[in-house]
Amino acid sequence: MTLYQTEPRIAAGDVSNTEPNLPGKLEAKPSQTDFLTKFMVEPGARVVLDDIDPGCCAGYESCERAQTAMKSYAEKIGRLQYLMHAENKRSLLIVLQGMDAAGKDGVVRHIVTNMNPAGCRIVNFKQPTPVDLGHDFLWRVHPHVPSKGEVIIFNRSHYEDVLVVRVHQLAPVHVWFKRYELINSFEKLLVADNDTTVLKFLLHISKEEQLARFKRRLEDPARRWKISEADYREREHWDSYVDAFEEMLHRTSTIHAPWFVIPSDQKWFRDLAIAQIISRTLEALDMRLPQPAVDITHIRRRYHAAEITAKAS
Ligand code: AMP
Ligand code: MG
Repeated sequence: MTLYQTEPRIAAGDVSNTEPNLPGKLEAKPSQTDFLTKFMVEPGARVVLDDIDPGCCAGYESCERAQTAMKSYAEKIGRLQYLMHAENKRSLLIVLQGMDAAGKDGVVRHIVTNMNPAGCRIVNFKQPTPVDLGHDFLWRVHPHVPSKGEVIIFNRSHYEDVLVVRVHQLAPVHVWFKRYELINSFEKLLVADNDTTVLKFLLHISKEEQLARFKRRLEDPARRWKISEADYREREHWDSYVDAFEEMLHRTSTIHAPWFVIPSDQKWFRDLAIAQIISRTLEALDMRLPQPAVDITHIRRRYHAAEITAKAS
């Protein structure tokens, strides 16, 4: 498969000692599967989404078996995000795309579980307003990119401008076609000028699983608020979306901002794979706590003085 053809572009940190050693399989242990390599789209590769099994679990037999690894990655992401916030030098932009009901909201919940809200933010991209439409397509996006120390998650993104816009011909071909290059330049700017790491995830679900999720939304009163007419309308354009996704992957998976196609029919596997990729990427940044801004010897003296005063009173 095109996706899996070469070595990872991003150096992966070694977290194998924190992953469980799952019994029961003779082939490569699930704990050793590097999802960063496995699911990354090589720059220029032509991915055929039909060739990728959306139900893939990479050897993990069940959600229960993956629990320890999931917990460990979630905790690691929490620790590394704290470090990013403290270091205040670099940032992380996570982009989520996928069909309706692919699980973008679920991924957001999982990623931020252990994060300090002070250093992370979620940005949802809906239909552009008339004011947005009066500007270039990146105008509404740029103010939301992370500043130093921040993690920002885009739930949908500037990629809608080469997806829904293409599928529904909301702009002429010569307009949206130029956007692939413009997006590459934009993302390169974030990386080159502000030390932002960009990770882009396409949540890959099957048409059957989407319908099953629509059914659950219909039957479960707690989920009904999520139903929209648009979900059914967009489903009729499934093949056009697949074409648009494939072209997007081909033209915009770059060394500086790679795409990952994540099998997402199994929610727990989707969360596990994404958490591993994020935690390994953050780990490879080799972030450090900053030096204290004060003279610690001096502050220690002040502390002891305050302690003596407190005991005396
Ligand atoms: P949801 O994320 O399900 O709340 O839906 C948001 C809707 O906004 C989706 O149907 C998107 O396709 C649509 N949307 C987001 N960005 C754009 C855009 N740039 N142009 C047109 N529609 C968009
Ligand atoms: Mg929706």
